[in-house]
Amino acid sequence: MSKNQKPSSSDTLKAVRPSLRSSKEGFPILIDSHCHLHDPQFFSAEEAEACVKRAHEAGVEKIICIGTDPADSLVARDFAMTHDGVYWTYGIHPEETGREENVLSRSIFSDVENTERPSPVTTGARERSEKGLFSRLVAIGEVGLDYHYDGYNREAQIKLFEQMLQLAVDNDLPVSFHIREAFADFFPIIENFPKVRGVVHSFTDSKKVLRRILNETEFYVGVNGLATYSTLPTPPLERILLETDAPFLAPIPHRGNANEPAYIADIAKWLAEKLDISQEEVASATSENVENLYKLSNYNYKH
Ligand SMILES: [Zn+2]
Repeated sequence: MSKNQKPSSSDTLKAVRPSLRSSKEGFPILIDSHCHLHDPQFFSAEEAEACVKRAHEAGVEKIICIGTDPADSLVARDFAMTHDGVYWTYGIHPEETGREENVLSRSIFSDVENTERPSPVTTGARERSEKGLFSRLVAIGEVGLDYHYDGYNREAQIKLFEQMLQLAVDNDLPVSFHIREAFADFFPIIENFPKVRGVVHSFTDSKKVLRRILNETEFYVGVNGLATYSTLPTPPLERILLETDAPFLAPIPHRGNANEPAYIADIAKWLAEKLDISQEEVASATSENVENLYKLSNYNYKH
């Protein structure tokens, strides 16, 4: 799109759904679509509380806590269930492949099932959005392939990834993908799961790979603090989800410190400058993208 064709900020803002506007100021909200704020390895309970507060002050009104193994996913669930505007995902990070406790049981959700709830595999996403153990479960992830470190087990990662994709299909949930140095395997695998919707979180590959994601799939692409100090290719606004991946990858000007959801505002500012559009426009478009993928407003209730 040329600069002349660019929609004005006011046109875009009119289209913002009510649930994506800040209740206080009327501005479009920001969303951290991927972080690990619930994880006590990185944030004490007090620090996490303070981060949620600072996020709200910075206009980041919704936060998605990403599970990296079954136990961690349940911590994310508990954090989401006690904080307004926080959601969770159920995942097994590819680097966790092969650990005994992460071997998939017959029902991967068996650890969260109890007598109150029917099997989630037989219930729809909307039903699960009621108050209960599956409240605010918005996606499967992070799952994928990571061939960065020596000693990875490619076959085991692929097997687990395919099981997680099937789980997403069975439960009608989108997927947060973690793919590093493994796109050659990623593309043929996801071709076998045409119904899967998702986001390629923390994209760090080439322009060529980005073009394949944009042209051959409908996936969104996660843009985080890395983009603010690297030469990564930038996806078009309509395909971007903003994420911090906190506590990792703090954006400029916080580089070197622990990252936190409030810094989505810094990433949004960087992106607005890069695309030469207003910060409101960035907030409105990227929050709409998160909503389209994760359907957060289906889960909108107060505790
Ligand atoms: Zn992550």
